[in-house]
Amino acid sequence: MGKVCRECAAPLAGRSDKQFCSDACRTAYHNRKYREQWHDTARINSILRANRRILALLCETGVREISLADDRLKGFDFRYCTAVKRYPLRRTAYRCYEFGYLIAGGRICRITRYTDGAI
Ligand SMILES: [Zn+2]
Repeated sequence: MGKVCRECAAPLAGRSDKQFCSDACRTAYHNRKYREQWHDTARINSILRANRRILALLCETGVREISLADDRLKGFDFRYCTAVKRYPLRRTAYRCYEFGYLIAGGRICRITRYTDGAI
């Protein structure tokens, strides 16, 4: 079975390391890959910014602990954070940019804004 173009799957002839049938296919392939990669990055950044906005609002209003079921967490995506730090006794601390929090007992606890840049 011969090699095919990575973009259009046309059979390839010529050099054994050839990956594309034409410059147009090479450009289309790399443009699509770049778009896909950037799309994921933009989507994840958007989720992280939304999480940060929610944590900032909670902090500004003095909320340091909140039930995971609370409506004020609507839109918070727990799958995304900017750092994770594990402590003894199976505790895990999360960071979303400058905001830190723990998740325990069905609640987000110790919501804190750090200004020192430390994790
Ligand atoms: Zn092609």
